[in-house]
Amino acid sequence: IQATFIPLLAADKKLNGGVIVLTDITELRKLETVRNDFVANVSHELRTPLTSIIGYLDTLLESDIEDQDTRERFLQIIKEETDRLSNLINDLLNLSKIESQIFKLEADNFEKIVKKVVNLLSQKAKKQKLELNLEIDNNLPLVYMVREQIKQVLINLIDNAIKYTAEGGKVEVKVKQEKDKIYFSVQDNGMGIPQADQERIFERFYRVDKARSRALGGTGIGLSIVRNIIKQHGSEIQLKSREGVGSEFYFYLKIAE
Ligand code: ADP
Repeated sequence: IQATFIPLLAADKKLNGGVIVLTDITELRKLETVRNDFVANVSHELRTPLTSIIGYLDTLLESDIEDQDTRERFLQIIKEETDRLSNLINDLLNLSKIESQIFKLEADNFEKIVKKVVNLLSQKAKKQKLELNLEIDNNLPLVYMVREQIKQVLINLIDNAIKYTAEGGKVEVKVKQEKDKIYFSVQDNGMGIPQADQERIFERFYRVDKARSRALGGTGIGLSIVRNIIKQHGSEIQLKSREGVGSEFYFYLKIAE
């Protein structure tokens, strides 16, 4: 609580009374904390790969490493860390764009975009020896959406399902009409998400296992982008998951009349 005292003076400038204004600044403080945490997180996430890049570059430049294999290994690490930085910056720019812009929803073909994204990611699934299936009704009605944003949502969700599912696993994408809505779901039989983490994984930078996410090229921002975009579509991203069994992410979009 913040207290402000406003004095009321009489004609002879003597104190005649006053007003005390009490303001509840809990929400303000909370916002401030969230912002500070975000800046701290971004700095940390940017500094980690940069420190590693500088370290390996210095070693390559300053010492005579004759061994070709070692040089190659160092260069490979530099490449990976640079890719990570690039991913992170892209995700951050995306997130800030989504948060600052007002969406203009248009009647569009959801069916087409789902098929496109599944096709796009089927190569990755195959490489990881995963089955990626699509079960979709034909001739679905148009829905209100921003195509590029919905494409991003589908990529993030299906890519996660592939990332967090072990070889030989299965990822199922389902799309169907339910009354005046279109239902989308992606289900995997991967590692699942512990109950305690389920609320938090939509927060920026929150990852169940940081090291694992990093090793898979993750930034911890993908799901907060998803939550944001779906919210801007007047809907909500939902999750059902059990550790060691698998996860299902799903949402509804409104059909265009
Ligand atoms: P990341 O870049 O780390 O994948 P996300 O925001 O996309 O970031 O996801 C946040 C965290 O949620 C991940 O690090 C992972 O721990 C967990 N997660 C997301 N999708 C899945 C999934 N399909 N199965 C298991 N864990 C998942």
